[in-house]
Amino acid sequence: MNDQDLRALSGKIIKNAPIGRKSWFGCGGDADMLYLPASVEDLSEFLNLWPLKEPLTVIGGLANTIIRDGGLRGATIQLGKALANITVMGERFIQAGCGANNANVAAAAVKAGIGGLEFLSGIPGSLGGALRMNAGAYGREMKDVLIGVSALDRSGRALRLSREALKMSYRHTDIAEDIIFTGAVLKGHAEDYETVKARMNDIKKKRNDTQPIKEFTGGSTFANPAPDELRRAGLPEGTRAWQVVEMVDGRGLMVGGAQMSEKHCNFMINTGSATAKDLEMLGEELRARARHKFGLTLHWEIKRIGAA
Ligand SMILES: Cc1cc2nc3c(=O)[nH]c(=O)nc-3n(C[C@H](O)[C@H](O)[C@H](O)COP(=O)(O)OP(=O)(O)OC[C@H]3O[C@@H](n4cnc5c(N)ncnc54)[C@H](O)[C@@H]3O)c2cc1C
Repeated sequence: MNDQDLRALSGKIIKNAPIGRKSWFGCGGDADMLYLPASVEDLSEFLNLWPLKEPLTVIGGLANTIIRDGGLRGATIQLGKALANITVMGERFIQAGCGANNANVAAAAVKAGIGGLEFLSGIPGSLGGALRMNAGAYGREMKDVLIGVSALDRSGRALRLSREALKMSYRHTDIAEDIIFTGAVLKGHAEDYETVKARMNDIKKKRNDTQPIKEFTGGSTFANPAPDELRRAGLPEGTRAWQVVEMVDGRGLMVGGAQMSEKHCNFMINTGSATAKDLEMLGEELRARARHKFGLTLHWEIKRIGAA
């Protein structure tokens, strides 16, 4: 893509963008080029112009991602405020751009007397990230509330996909990595404002009590093991990832400036001086311990991207 092409686009280009430092972990490398599209059409145009052979990465709020210290090559796309519109439709539906903050989506639903979306209030990051991760909390996840998405493929072609097409499962959406979600329609139910608000406050309190939300963190480090994995490892049904971390003496464990939180031992934190390498090595140390002690493979829930 040449300078003339870039000038024809209306989005914002930031060269050597310090996205690692702006991630929830507060460390990691820069993006060679960060593109903040001005609209869906503008993003489509960008994708159409960006050569297929060049690297392309999409990020949301970076609440679930370690950017490795060497940073990201090629183009990095982040949907921001320009794609963050939220519209209430009737008594039960919310339509939102995938750059919208989850907390804002939850707040708009509560304000409109729509129940069932308040779990989003405690999930940091953007709607696009929540869709890709099938994010969830307190017994609900995105697949329970999603009607469908609009998206762009790698060449900028617009797509409409139903919830079924995304094949969502525990913290996973089974659709090509290069599909970019641009908007979604979510469904809740009509409910009294005060009742929904009370549930949202309850979520906030539970999070404050149990998670290190004031630290540099990325949420759950490892996904909970599947039932057959637990059976093979000889561990009781329902054993959670944090319990495995506990059983391999992971609570409080440190590598460089990275530490497994004392408050919630499946949350990894940057104590201030961690590099992305420290964080990743800490995770790998725990995976090695779980393999050695139980023959169990812990699966990273946190994405790790970029050059080491
Ligand atoms: C304190 C804390 C608490 C957390 N609690 C929870 C919890 O209870 N439940 C839970 O599920 N998660 C939790 N998380 C993790 C995180 O909030 C979620 O995974 C969230 O959905 C990540 O969204 P994001 O926009 O930050 O995504 P990012 O971290 O930026 O990206 C995550 C993935 O989504 C992809 N992606 C981002 N935007 C798009 C898009 N528009 N189109 C296609 N793909 C896209 C990226 O390529 C990447 O693969 C927590 C995190 C923190 C820091």
